[in-house]
Amino acid sequence: MSADRILSRCRELAAITDVPGETTRTYLSPAMRRANEQLMAWVAAKGFTVRYDAAGNLRIVRAAPIETNRTFIVASHLDTIPNAGAFDGPLGIVLGLALLEEAPPLPFHLELIAFSEEEGVRFGFPFIGSKALTGELTDDLLARVDGKGTSVRQAITAYGLNPEELGEAQLHSGHFGYLEFHIEQGPVLEHEDRSLGIVTAIIGQSRLQLVFTGKANHAGTTPMHLRHDALAAAAEFVLAAERLGRNTPGLVATVGQLSPQPGAGNVIPGETVLSLDVRHADDTVRHGSVETLLKAAHAITQARGMVVSFAAKLDQPAVPMDPKLTALLAEAAAPCHPLSMTSGAGHDAMIVAPHLPAAMLFLRTPNGLSHHPDETVHPEDVQLAFETGLRFLERIADV
Ligand SMILES: [Zn+2]
Repeated sequence: MSADRILSRCRELAAITDVPGETTRTYLSPAMRRANEQLMAWVAAKGFTVRYDAAGNLRIVRAAPIETNRTFIVASHLDTIPNAGAFDGPLGIVLGLALLEEAPPLPFHLELIAFSEEEGVRFGFPFIGSKALTGELTDDLLARVDGKGTSVRQAITAYGLNPEELGEAQLHSGHFGYLEFHIEQGPVLEHEDRSLGIVTAIIGQSRLQLVFTGKANHAGTTPMHLRHDALAAAAEFVLAAERLGRNTPGLVATVGQLSPQPGAGNVIPGETVLSLDVRHADDTVRHGSVETLLKAAHAITQARGMVVSFAAKLDQPAVPMDPKLTALLAEAAAPCHPLSMTSGAGHDAMIVAPHLPAAMLFLRTPNGLSHHPDETVHPEDVQLAFETGLRFLERIADV
């Protein structure tokens, strides 16, 4: 399928929205139904098996020409953030659909899954679609409510589906692998002048809150050598975090929130609360880096006669992609000189990978711009991704 056709399908989907004038489709909304109907219309005459599972994921299966229960999944999400671009999610679905339509006969079934929910907009928690595959939609999650007080369970029923049948949405023993195409949503591929990226892992994440406590006092009467300025100490720490991030390959460290108290122009800050976000593909490196930064915070405060305390808010492990599938994907992409890279954002592949061998292909994101209506993608990159997908499917028959 031509890249132009793939791009125009993405644009057609982007026009299907709950909010006129922008692209907004949330979990099980009227626009989601229309977008699913559009996907079905594109493949109506192809002889594929089409069904919704009980989480509202659309599942389109192209049967193998031989007797087998081996099934390979290509998937991405159809829901969007409010006022989204046309490619975050839908591009992976449209590319997958093109593979079902045009791949040569394969000795396994090919299943496209259009996930009903990934972004977490309607219910405030993400990955409803992929968690249905892995059996992680707990009663607790199904009871969560949206802004109108409708629970996930009620939303499923209102869509005409049966939450009691969620078990049938789960992966079965014939499923042997998973591929997700996604735009990078960052600047790395463009910076490296590459079309495609092979994702080796979704990086792990630590989030902490640190409180630097000094002594508030008069900004005019307190000489510099008698101060315990909590903001000045925090500022030293911010630079220490930046330095460690710059000097450690693959590490990103960010202080994104900083609030000095009492926050008056003529008062020395007595307390400063800050956020620390540290991410790396290797959990050992990530944990070691957090340790290093906490030691630095102690050294900085000790030297200033102050104290620091911290609270861990999140410790999310890295999720490696399957090495074997990833190597085959890299072989299939070799003519396009792909970049081996980690993903700094979460994706459905992260939910699926602990349960099923998974691989992920990134496409360059012009200007690194995503989660924005102007999000775009180069037609030539789409062409290369599609051709890579075709070569990949031919290589995985023996996996
Ligand atoms: Zn996405």
